[in-house]
Amino acid sequence: MKETIWWKIGDPPGQDAILKQAGEILQNGGLVAFPTETVYGLGGDAFNPASSKRIYAAKGRPSDNPLIVHICRLSDLEKTAVSIPKDAYRLAEAFWPGPLTMILKKTAALPSETTGGLDTVAVRFPSHPLAQALIDAAGGFVAAPSANTSGRPSPTVGKYVYEDLCGRIDMLIDDGQVGLGLESTIVDLTEDHPMILRPGFITETMLRSVLGDVSLDPALLEKQKAPDLDPQKTQDQADLKSGMPAHSAHTHTGPKAPGMKYKHYAPKGEVIIFEGDEEKVSERLLYELQKDQKNGTRSGVILSERMLERLQRGKKETLADSVKCLGSSDDTQAMAHMLFRFLREFDDEGIQRIYVRAVAQEGLGLAVMNRLKKAAGGRIISL
Ligand code: AMP
Ligand code: MG
Repeated sequence: MKETIWWKIGDPPGQDAILKQAGEILQNGGLVAFPTETVYGLGGDAFNPASSKRIYAAKGRPSDNPLIVHICRLSDLEKTAVSIPKDAYRLAEAFWPGPLTMILKKTAALPSETTGGLDTVAVRFPSHPLAQALIDAAGGFVAAPSANTSGRPSPTVGKYVYEDLCGRIDMLIDDGQVGLGLESTIVDLTEDHPMILRPGFITETMLRSVLGDVSLDPALLEKQKAPDLDPQKTQDQADLKSGMPAHSAHTHTGPKAPGMKYKHYAPKGEVIIFEGDEEKVSERLLYELQKDQKNGTRSGVILSERMLERLQRGKKETLADSVKCLGSSDDTQAMAHMLFRFLREFDDEGIQRIYVRAVAQEGLGLAVMNRLKKAAGGRIISL
């Protein structure tokens, strides 16, 4: 076990001193977790194969699940990728710096340890000023997956990075809650047609406005089988814990992004998604919550303000052991921002069952539902 230095931005010794120390750690092959606009990243020098190996070890990540290389200057793109298509520059012009990752053909100099053995590389230019300054201090190229133990929800606040990686990394730079809350959109530009491998804040419509044509990885739209609501842990849940590939990995389509085949974003509790209108979802929710109460199962819900009011109308008893309200703003936006944090908080509270209402799978909703379905291991109940 090594000691992990936990710096909070705003506290002494001040940002410049922290960045200088972090840059030195990274240049010497160490690991630093840092905030980006999407989620916290676990960074190492992208051109140092030993650093990349350390990232996999710290996360317990399967070695065929490649990392994203973060840059802080567009001109550095050519040091990571070759045969860069015009589309990449168009996308960079429109969305960089920002929450978009592009898959391109890698340069020979980039170690295959960083790209999970692939001849392609995922590159992103984040917009978070601190992330940019850190990448610069590290020499310009930081390989960074999300800063969580493999399979767990991506951390959107520093304390959950510390919880997962304390003693496994050299430093954590903590800047509180991140701005967006979901990982970057990943678009593959190595084939004839651009393809979205992971949905995010840069939506299909936004990409289409630049590229004209873009498709979705068919694996993203694949229907998963909803296992029964059995209080016993199903095999599916057991797989969640072991980080084994999800069912979709065995289907004919198979995901294009290597990491997308692994179970992800799983809290310790069981996540159940209800799909349907407010009335039907409320009815079913109350039924399940009553059942949980009778069985002594600790339950949690994520609800819009409207749903919460509807369910509380005329009721004195507590609705669930933990209630997370999405507030009055747009549900999809709020869910994108808060989902991972809520899942982690449910774990802190010992919640065994988590109920969520599905959002529409369009625009940002596609990204939210992608993460939610993975967290739920396919448990969607259509009402
Ligand atoms: P994370 O940062 O933890 O969200 O993980 C990075 C994601 O980027 C993983 O899901 C990878 O599968 C994906 N990725 C990284 N490099 C590539 C690549 N060369 N081709 C396809 N997907 C990639
Ligand atoms: Mg991740």
